[in-house]
Amino acid sequence: MAYLEQVANLRLSPSRVSEFTNCPQLYKYRTIDKLPEPPSVDAERGTLVHTVLHDLFESPAELRNLETAVELLPSRWQAQLAAKPDLAPLVSNEKEWIDRANALLATYFKLEKPETFEPTFRELHLEFDLNSDLYLHGYVDRLDVAPTGEVRIVDYKTGKSPKPGWEAKALFQLQVYALLYYKTNNVLPRLLLLIYLGDGALVRSTPTMADLAATEATLMRIASEIKLAIEKDVWPTKPSRLCDWCFFKAICPAHT
Ligand code: SF4
Repeated sequence: MAYLEQVANLRLSPSRVSEFTNCPQLYKYRTIDKLPEPPSVDAERGTLVHTVLHDLFESPAELRNLETAVELLPSRWQAQLAAKPDLAPLVSNEKEWIDRANALLATYFKLEKPETFEPTFRELHLEFDLNSDLYLHGYVDRLDVAPTGEVRIVDYKTGKSPKPGWEAKALFQLQVYALLYYKTNNVLPRLLLLIYLGDGALVRSTPTMADLAATEATLMRIASEIKLAIEKDVWPTKPSRLCDWCFFKAICPAHT
């Protein structure tokens, strides 16, 4: 019965979609079984850097510089630790941890000049019912609306940029946000921008209506696959190099 409710009320976000396409079994562990997972050091570092970049825009434009960002780090880190105490044992060398976050922030300032613009939205929640039993949503790191009305959707990544040929896969998340923004505002975003702080690269795309239609079709197809997996309770494993980072490897049928 619970499975039937999940089929009737499917909630998708770009990360859930990627999870299912990367490995249906991993999707099941996380989304259906809701098994607990320890925090990931890389993901938590990403959260810290995202928080600082979010809060940086609270400062007046002339103070949006690396010094201000570096000053924000310790207090934001302490707040993150207070909210998630089981993170502390994972960070054995706090100086190294902060230094790494500082380096990512330094890279940010080589790629953007935050003193030159005002973001319109930060951590914007977009949501839309694609149909009566498919709810789609996501959180956009930053969305800028220019005085001309042109919209730019920005996402910060603390890892490295994709290898040549993999940019479209990396941009899928922003294509979904563009679709959500179009569905809710009837405006086609002008630019999608991924900012990779791991290696200082930018990945850009100018979406078209055909792109949005293709993204919607992909989402509908994946939603059907997920519903089928739920109904039949069949969750194939997809072993890949991701398995080395998968917390569930010890219980995964592909490795036992
Ligand atoms: S170990 Fe690999 S195959 Fe198994 S659930 Fe994790 S990602 Fe999927």
